[in-house]
Amino acid sequence: MTIFKKIINKEIPANILYEDDFCLAFHDINPKAPIHFLVIPKTTEIDKLSSAKKEHKDLLGHLMITAKELAEKEGLKDFRVVINNGEGVGQTVFHLHIHVLGGRDFTWPPG
Ligand code: 5GP
Repeated sequence: MTIFKKIINKEIPANILYEDDFCLAFHDINPKAPIHFLVIPKTTEIDKLSSAKKEHKDLLGHLMITAKELAEKEGLKDFRVVINNGEGVGQTVFHLHIHVLGGRDFTWPPG
């Protein structure tokens, strides 16, 4: 079981921003920006974006809309949305998650 499943199950605590039947959003424990939260699906079916199927289309849309609504709620006009897909690009938790980061300037391209 991943650490995110334990957060979904409330087996370990997290600073939760939002929750509904399909997703959960919580602040990252090791923030890389003044505001850094994660939006995750409650299902464990998708370990990374590569595993998503056409049937997940509505869920993925829901995660994106939730991410931008929460960014707005946090007062962010500009923000960065990141999905790390695979170990080679830094994914460490194998339960799909969208990073939302803001509150500072960012450079492009990311490292
Ligand atoms: P990844 O590197 O897989 O894209 O992102 C995983 C993120 O989850 C990291 O930014 C890491 O700080 C965060 N994270 C890992 N364990 C926990 C935890 O127990 N609680 C919270 N809130 N965030 C975590």
